[in-house]
This record gives sequence, structure tokens and C-alpha cells, in this order.
Amino acid sequence: MSELKDILCNEIAENGPMNLASYMRRALTDPKYGYYMQRHPFGIPDHGGGDFITAPEVSQIFGELLGAWIADLWQRMGAPKQINLIELGPGRGTLMADMLRAASVLPAFQKAAKVIFVEVSPALRALQKQAVPQAHWLDDTAYLPPGPCIFVGNEFFDALPIQQFKRQGDSWLEVHVTAEKNTLHYIDVEISEPGFSEPLSACLPEYIENGAIVESSPDSETVMKQISTHIADHGGAALFIDYGHKEPAYGDSFQALEKHKYTDPLASPGMADLTAHVNFPLLANIAHSAGLRASPIVNQGTFLEALGLNIRAQQLMQASPGREQQINDERLRLAAPQHMGQLFKILGVAHCDMPPLAGFPA
Ligand code: SAH
Repeated sequence: MSELKDILCNEIAENGPMNLASYMRRALTDPKYGYYMQRHPFGIPDHGGGDFITAPEVSQIFGELLGAWIADLWQRMGAPKQINLIELGPGRGTLMADMLRAASVLPAFQKAAKVIFVEVSPALRALQKQAVPQAHWLDDTAYLPPGPCIFVGNEFFDALPIQQFKRQGDSWLEVHVTAEKNTLHYIDVEISEPGFSEPLSACLPEYIENGAIVESSPDSETVMKQISTHIADHGGAALFIDYGHKEPAYGDSFQALEKHKYTDPLASPGMADLTAHVNFPLLANIAHSAGLRASPIVNQGTFLEALGLNIRAQQLMQASPGREQQINDERLRLAAPQHMGQLFKILGVAHCDMPPLAGFPA
């Protein structure tokens, strides 16, 4: 039962259909009923609970490798006395806790790093405080603290609302959500122009088939612009990990996960995780426009292996007799092409004065 569904049905009856972005925003972050606002969505399928599992929850090695990546970058950028270590959408705080533990081999880094979480959900903030007691919080990226920053976001952009547009000959329809007899369904609404932003237009293939869907995430563009401008002004870098595409692409990627199974995104708003693929070329384009360098977009498996995933897994296996099989399974989940290794991509962006980012081809 989804109370939010009843509320949305009533609202639609009164005000007419809502566009997909408005629906997604309410389903995920409605202050009372939003998915992230009330539930603890992360879990391990075989151990009961949760709706999906993310890389830091699969294995501690994920956070350890990223922690070493950050500490190394901080050292090579000249070891500034203060660095803001900003994580977007930190979930349970596992990634940051693992990163800080790995980076503790550099006590000067630990001293320099101010941990800041960007998080909307009070329920998740409480969990994050348990994992990383010294953290500070921001509601969004509109006001970022001065000074150089290293940003990390794992499965953050995929949670930001999207709009969908359908090509119809020379014109466009926008996908909306409407209600009938207490069920929600899609409806195409005529619009005069989709009004794609400049960076989105630059990242679309030249030819878009009739009837095809193009997704746009104005919220993602705003966040990426704010982060990029901040890095351009204050120095630093950012690393984003998510599932999405490397090349300009289009198509419907809107999906819902509930209890580790795909479900209808309109069936139970507030009860399922809703996501869309991240348009990585678009994020890189925004960084470029702000004057930053952007890395090639690489697969998660390739990146983690370049950072020493296999060596770290070997070390852990030797140190943990009886857990070898489990550690090896976790390594494969992170990096094998049939698991997260290929679907998930990584993009690094940096101020032009920063040293090269490790893990990416030159
Ligand atoms: N990075 C974590 C969690 C990913 S889930 C992990 O890998 O396990 C998405 C996270 O982004 C959650 O913490 C969610 O509450 C947060 N989030 C979603 N929308 C947000 C928004 N608009 N602003 C800030 N945080 C948001």
C-alpha cells in the first residue's frame, strides 16, 4: 500500500497530469512519504532486507580504493592544509567510513580533511552520523564552502529527477503521469518545444528515431554546474560513479527496484527506488564548459583494477582464512563485466592545475 499514491491521484484529479520529473521528485524525496526520506533502502539480497545494493555495501575494498585515490591525489596536489571532502548522497555513510579508514595511513590528510555530506534525507543523515560522527551536512550544492574540494558521488546522479520527451515527427511530446480509478499511468502531453539545454543538445546523437525517448535531468545539470564552477574557482577534483552511458545516447532508462526486483515505477511511489541512467558525456561537457579537465569515461571494473582491486582482494583473502570465497565473490561483483564492472562508469573531473587523476588512461 502506498499512501503517496492516493495523495498523488488526488492531486492529479485536481491539477491535471504531472511531468515525470515532478513525479520522481515526490516519489523519492517527498518530505513525509518519499522513498529516501523514510526507508532504509540498502541491503544484501541473501541476507534479507533492502531494495538494492550499492558498491560500497558489496565490499569494503570499494571505499578503501577510493580513499587511497583521494589521499594520493591530495598529496600530489601539494598537501593543502585544508581540504573539503564532499560526498553527494552518502546513503548509510559506508563509503566515507571505508575511505577514511584507508586514508588513515596519511595522518596529515586525516587532519586536513573536513568531511561534508550532501544529503536530503533526515533518516539517512542519522545513519551517516553513526558511521562518520565528525561529518558536517549540506542540503544541496547551491552553497559550497570555500577552499579546495574533492567530491565523490556513488549512485547519486541516478537518483535525480528526469524528464522524458518523445519524438513525434518534427515535434515533441512530454511524458506525464496521470491517474484513473486510483492507478497511475503514463500519458504523452503535447508541448511546443522540449527546450533541451545547450549541453544536452551537444550530447545527443545527430539522428533521433521517430517515437524515441530523450531524457533530460535539469537537476543533474544544475548540480554539475555548481560543482564545476566551485572547482574552477577554488581548486580540486570530483569523481562520479554511476550506471549510465559513455557515448551520446538516448532511450528510456527510467526504472524501479523494490526488494531487489524490477517493478513498475508507477505502482507504489515512495516504496521503490526510482532511477535513470546517468548521461556521463553531458556531465563531462558541463565540466569542460566551466574550464575543467574531464577524464575519459571508463568502466568501473577497469578503474578499480587499475587502482589495485585484485591485489587488495588477495591481501584480504590471506588475512581472513575461511572468507576467501566470499571476498573473491565480492571482487567479482564489483568488477566482472556481467555484474557491476561494465554497467557502472566512472568520470573524473579536475581543475586544470591538478595533477593527473589516477586510474584513468592518460
Ligand atoms: N552513495 C550511497 C547511496 C546511493 S542512493 C551508496 O552508494 O550506497 C542515493 C543517495 O542520494 C541517498 O543517500 C539519497 O538520500 C541521496 N539523495 C537522493 N536525492 C538527493 C538530493 N536531491 N539531494 C541530496 N541527496 C539526495
